[in-house]
Amino acid sequence: MATDILDVIRTKRDGGTLDDEQVRFFIEGYTAGTVADEQAAALCMAILLRDMAPAELASWTRAMIDSGERLDLSGVGRPTVDKHSTGGVGDKVSLVLAPLVAACGAAVPQLSGRGLGHTGGTLDKLEAIPGWRATLTTDEVVAQLRTVGAVICAASDTLCPADRKLYALRDVTATVEAIPLIASSIMAKKIAEGTDALVLDVKVGAGAFLPEHERARRLAETMVELGQAHGVRTVALITDMNAPLGRAAGNGLEVAESVEVLRGGGPPDLVGVTLALAREMLALAGLAVDPAEALGDGRALAVWDAMVRAQGGDPDAPLAEAAHRHTVTAPAGGYLRRLDARAVGVAAWRLGAGRSRKEDPVSPTAGAVCLRKPGDEVAAGEPVLELHVDDEARLPGALAALAAAIEVGPEPPTPRPLVVERIR
Ligand code: URA
Repeated sequence: MATDILDVIRTKRDGGTLDDEQVRFFIEGYTAGTVADEQAAALCMAILLRDMAPAELASWTRAMIDSGERLDLSGVGRPTVDKHSTGGVGDKVSLVLAPLVAACGAAVPQLSGRGLGHTGGTLDKLEAIPGWRATLTTDEVVAQLRTVGAVICAASDTLCPADRKLYALRDVTATVEAIPLIASSIMAKKIAEGTDALVLDVKVGAGAFLPEHERARRLAETMVELGQAHGVRTVALITDMNAPLGRAAGNGLEVAESVEVLRGGGPPDLVGVTLALAREMLALAGLAVDPAEALGDGRALAVWDAMVRAQGGDPDAPLAEAAHRHTVTAPAGGYLRRLDARAVGVAAWRLGAGRSRKEDPVSPTAGAVCLRKPGDEVAAGEPVLELHVDDEARLPGALAALAAAIEVGPEPPTPRPLVVERIR
């Protein structure tokens, strides 16, 4: 019997499991435009409410991958390994990790998206570098992986077109949060990218996409299973995102901080998370090398320079700076107990670092710098945050977001581990 879209929706609505044919009928039909937005919206809502069985999710992910091209990186000449983060405030790890892991002998094919909401996008950050371009052809990606070892660029329209349509629809139908839909969306793109291995950085805490540990763990486990099922060696680290990672949140500010790390310096939390992820990537690639050495001796920095130049950027050009700076001070003396990552992310976004709609421009200069981090001792009135902005009219909105972001108390906070859990 021919598959019918109403049967597909009804099956899921009533708590049943879709078979491979029903899944393919839906994904192919929605990509081609023969299944309507309202029908896809109904199915996404049914999935959010009813969940998906492992075999059903595996079919769904496979159909998403098959909706577009799958890159062939077999000619790159090195083991390929990538990393995906679920997104965090100040999370500029990819900028350091790609050249670092390439400097240690692997190839890192990082096809990325742009930021939406309070966490920034990797491409937006790199576009703060004068001349740098995000768009490469597939041949250019492969050539750069062969010569430089690392590429960060925009995913082409032909990679997982089903996800482009579905993600846009989920965004306007309150169905982004469904764990099977998040897991398949992320993993279909990463598997289609052609990487041999993948490390997932699943953030947990106040500034994370999924703040609760249980949900973050479920997402991590689901994605690791999907990766393994499709022949991609996959490991996930669940890492803390209660405070911003490093000190800077904002495009150009994050590039500057990444270069500090590549020069062997930078904030200890950012260096710690980067090295933990680098070690996992290198282990999956079968390379027994210590990434800390490549940060200390300039090899990672040399790959960064080559990676930026290969995409038209000038790594030596000064980054633009915002016209105005404004400090936010400690309300009392004591220890900084909390610096809320989500509030800092929303403030940076309102200052111009992020976008509300995918067609909005972002500012290369706007953002926030954490002058103090949780655990630091502060005096009353001492600056804790420095806000960077070109258009001062944006300042009140950013300050409103930060109204309850800073907590100072007589005791230091209990230190939190950076890597909360490892899932494989
Ligand atoms: N990022 C993605 O790529 N997809 C989702 O569904 C959520 C976050």
